[in-house]
Amino acid sequence: MGKIVQLADDLSNKIAAGEVVERPASVVKELVENAIDANSTVIEVEVDEGGLSRIRVLDNGDGIENDDCLTAFRRHATSKIKTENDLFRIRTLGFRGEALPSIASVSELELKTSTGEGPGTHLKLRGGEILIHEYTSSRKGTDLTIENLFFNTPARLKYMKTVNTELGNVTDVMNRLALAHPDVSFKLTHQGRQLLYTNGKGDVRQVMAAIYGMAIAKKMIPISIESLDYEVTGYISLPEVTRASRNYMSTIINGRYVKNYGLAKAIQQGYHTLLPIGRYPIVLLNIQMDPLLVDVNVHPAKLEVRLSKEAELFELVEQTIKASFKKQRLIPEVESPS
Ligand code: ADP
Ligand code: MG
Repeated sequence: MGKIVQLADDLSNKIAAGEVVERPASVVKELVENAIDANSTVIEVEVDEGGLSRIRVLDNGDGIENDDCLTAFRRHATSKIKTENDLFRIRTLGFRGEALPSIASVSELELKTSTGEGPGTHLKLRGGEILIHEYTSSRKGTDLTIENLFFNTPARLKYMKTVNTELGNVTDVMNRLALAHPDVSFKLTHQGRQLLYTNGKGDVRQVMAAIYGMAIAKKMIPISIESLDYEVTGYISLPEVTRASRNYMSTIINGRYVKNYGLAKAIQQGYHTLLPIGRYPIVLLNIQMDPLLVDVNVHPAKLEVRLSKEAELFELVEQTIKASFKKQRLIPEVESPS
């Protein structure tokens, strides 16, 4: 008899969790992305102790049908793609069907969900094991609570930083999601204290005001440009408004917050020589493109993506920012020969 065996579900879920669920912030990201994919317009997130003891995500989206509730906790179970072809045309934030089984395998999870038609479902799981499964009357939408994250993976728990660090990561994740989705109202509270609120009216400036403060939001300069393959809209700060970290340059592709070195570089080159050394602007770039041109299936958290025709996009971004500063006479029309 051979030595190779297929791992049991609970074990393979835990292994997947090692990749997908790095810390409380990754749980918040996965759950809020699910809420966005479910067409929610209001999403409220409550966390305690930086998310280590409790994370609750409440949405008013489509809800999960009773018959789907257990399937949703199986690995690679998703309602978002069906065929290989769909993989190249991803319009949703999720598609791998890994978040719920992974999160459930390393926490205590309670789910209340309803499509708004007939009774909803109430589920309670501990380390992926079902404790309660019953019908419940509940409002349309989904209410998920995660408690005692990593209770059964002590090595991972030990690796967690202070409450403040974990909360900082959670806040970053929420800010990015809010910037990418101004048409959704987000609320984040930590131990009852409100840390973020956006009104969901599609006003990006309101979102920036909520995150960066009114004074900065007011002064951001709008940009907008289109090419054959790309549509870029967004806001850039004046060169005198800079930060010591690259984190304030937010790049969003088809509603997904991404980190892309080439894009960050294109932004900086757009500022030309106007940025002091070691300083970075506050920028929000919202890029729309054919999903065929972007591969999101390259990174466990989908933070990095691969772009076809990226040189064209980088050039477009750099030139748009330059043009905006030329218009304001911050960059001379004719560059002096050097
Ligand atoms: P994925 O998002 O990649 O499909 P998940 O494990 O995150 O995988 O979720 C599994 C499925 O559960 C989703 O495809 C979706 O059908 C359903 N689901 C999860 N969260 C929600 C939610 N908040 N509202 C409605 N459906 C949800
Ligand atoms: Mg998901």
